[in-house]
Amino acid sequence: MASIATPTEPRASAVRGTDPGFIAKYSTQGPRYTSYPTALEFSEQFTVADYEQHLNTARNDAAPLSLYVHVPFCRWLCYYCGCNKVVTKKPGAGREYLDHIAIEIALLSQRIGNTRQVSQLHFGGGTPTYLDDAELTELIHLLASHFNLGDGKEREYSIEIDPRTVTPDRLALLRGLGFNRLSFGIQDTDPDVQRAINRTQRTDQIIDLVGAARSYRFSSISFDLIYGLPKQHCDTLNRTLDDIISLLPDRIALYHYAHLPTRFPAQRAIEKHTLPSSVEKLAMLRLANERLIEAGYVYIGMDHFVRPNDELARCQKEGHLQRNFQGYSTTLAPDVLGIGVSAISAIGDCYAQNSKDLTDYYRLLDAGQLPIDKGLIKSPEDQLRAYVIMQLACNLNISTQVFAEKFNISFWEKFADIQPKLEEMQQDGLIIIAHASITVTELGRMMLRNVCMVFDQYLKTQTQSYSKTI
Ligand code: SF4
Repeated sequence: MASIATPTEPRASAVRGTDPGFIAKYSTQGPRYTSYPTALEFSEQFTVADYEQHLNTARNDAAPLSLYVHVPFCRWLCYYCGCNKVVTKKPGAGREYLDHIAIEIALLSQRIGNTRQVSQLHFGGGTPTYLDDAELTELIHLLASHFNLGDGKEREYSIEIDPRTVTPDRLALLRGLGFNRLSFGIQDTDPDVQRAINRTQRTDQIIDLVGAARSYRFSSISFDLIYGLPKQHCDTLNRTLDDIISLLPDRIALYHYAHLPTRFPAQRAIEKHTLPSSVEKLAMLRLANERLIEAGYVYIGMDHFVRPNDELARCQKEGHLQRNFQGYSTTLAPDVLGIGVSAISAIGDCYAQNSKDLTDYYRLLDAGQLPIDKGLIKSPEDQLRAYVIMQLACNLNISTQVFAEKFNISFWEKFADIQPKLEEMQQDGLIIIAHASITVTELGRMMLRNVCMVFDQYLKTQTQSYSKTI
């Protein structure tokens, strides 16, 4: 059993959060925990046969299903990009992709069946709206003819929008195709920052699109912002926040820019001296936190702010928020079926990732094979640690009692080796250790990755591959 120390006062925590020594201590590299184990642990030992077995088992599950469709193409290269994408303006790229995705959809549907209701659908990229109207319509038709697409009010059908590739008319088409949620990639509205990242988009255009989305009754509008970009500082971010807050999006994801030029070649175009320091980045994070909370948003942790009546806030309050490869999610569908190059599926206790290479993805599908490249079947140890990490990342609390009942082992016996580290985090004001729980504090929410990392047994060899936590 852990000792119970007096938690750090919130005011003292806030002061501590700006202390350079404190920042240096917690500014390390770590995962965002959209899965545990993370994708870096996926192995080529995981075979297509393993995946097919999991798909067949999942066929009889009564729970709804989530679909993720990855469209890798982009017309322009954003210099900060760390996504799996193909920058091209080649005519016919979308056509060739659709022809192959059709094979994959048929193969998946044969194995997992078409009875499970699809309660969540997400188109991500790349740029899903790289596809033209006819191609997007065809893609939805393919999905609808192979899966049980839901039409209930509670369904969450979302698509990532690059504002440079859509018009109000295109949004009307997306609504007609059944999408009810839009996620706009905004990043920053300052012209200098936009030039430094090679992504210029006019704010008045975004205002028009948001107005159109509201008139077409999309039920949720999300914005993605990034802090830590070149040429960005508190003043520019303040103006971006003015623009954003005035548009009242339902959700805001505020991501930390991960500068990893050895891993993501696009980032080599960014000059290092134009990047803000860790201290400046923390000041920007604090500024964004303060302004968004002041504007009425709830910080649910790990980069995400939502309006208080949003389903994510409600799920967190009720203790059943979950996290998957698209970020936070409600508990509508426990299994995620990934479709498209590089897409990751989470089916039962396995993760499976499609080939990241478009040529390879096409080759495997042309041979009539699911294009799996690697994956992982979670061990009992992985499942136990995944539970703790996801509870902390999503619900900001772990009940040691529920843990003991679920896994038939005492929490404090299991994690005796990390108890000193947890106590140190309590002294630093990140968590509160009580008799039967660990709770993440306000300050701890800002360093949620650090808290989760304590329970990650794979980190020792992998930290160099992740972005900084602050
Ligand atoms: S950030 Fe998005 S739009 Fe820009 S290049 Fe990367 S995937 Fe494409």
